[in-house]
Amino acid sequence: MWIYLNDRFVKEEEAVISVFDHGFLYGDGVYETIRSYGSRIFMRDQHLARLRRSAEGIGLRIPIPDQRWPNLLHEAMTRNDVGHEGTDAYLRITVSRGAGDIGLDPALCPIPTVVIMTKPLHSPSPEQYRTGVNLIVARTRRNLPSAISPQIKATNFLNNILAKQEAIAAGAFDSILLNWESHLTECTVSNLFFVRAGRLCTPALACGLLDGITRNIVLGLAREAHIPVDEGYYGVEAIHAADECFLTNTSMEVMPVTVVDSHPVGNGTPGLVTQQLHRLFIASRMRFIEP
Ligand code: PLP
Repeated sequence: MWIYLNDRFVKEEEAVISVFDHGFLYGDGVYETIRSYGSRIFMRDQHLARLRRSAEGIGLRIPIPDQRWPNLLHEAMTRNDVGHEGTDAYLRITVSRGAGDIGLDPALCPIPTVVIMTKPLHSPSPEQYRTGVNLIVARTRRNLPSAISPQIKATNFLNNILAKQEAIAAGAFDSILLNWESHLTECTVSNLFFVRAGRLCTPALACGLLDGITRNIVLGLAREAHIPVDEGYYGVEAIHAADECFLTNTSMEVMPVTVVDSHPVGNGTPGLVTQQLHRLFIASRMRFIEP
């Protein structure tokens, strides 16, 4: 695998960073996960804008000018023979504070570390879309937004990793995280939706969740299809009483959820609104691809 590291592409074996990198020492960095459909990168500019916002949120300068990113991402795909007909690409950009003496002051690290990795995208199996996945509600709570903003996609991902460990221990696909007030927020790497009496519901951003790019597209598609949409404050009981449930993120698109805490959601099969929204997403996704 060719990895972009700081100012050049190097082979995987040479792609090493300092043990003094504050990304390693303190989780001091930001990242984005992006995908392509064939050679075309999905919502590239939105992901790059979110990377920039995350970096601004921690006072980190990204040492690559905006106009260079499209070529860099394409070169990363080409060098790794992904992102072409038949092989969608997974791309991960990481920007950390860089190497510096031990201590919390970012000024100790004059040069940020920039890494781009790409590999073939592993989408969920057709079977998972057909049967839906199972979730649990984690004991781990989502970070308090006033402690660390969920809009900062930080390389310190422990909050989500702890919830993921709970899911793995329970044999579940993933965990739903509640916030400090026991409101639903999101899952460890995806946003959460449910359907109740024909209304599409999703936790409001104020509950403390990432403003997901797929979440926004799905909300727009639902409105276009005249499906009533509510962004609100919901407890666990709302999910237990839902007719349908699904998750969204860049690599899964729309993934049905059919079991929560060992209870079937609705009739325990992917719901009609969920399937309609996934169809609409597939039909319209080329709209969201930059040239
Ligand atoms: N929520 C969290 C915590 C995530 O990490 C992600 C994915 O990166 C999402 C939601 C979904 O975001 P997107 O649709 O932009 O991929």
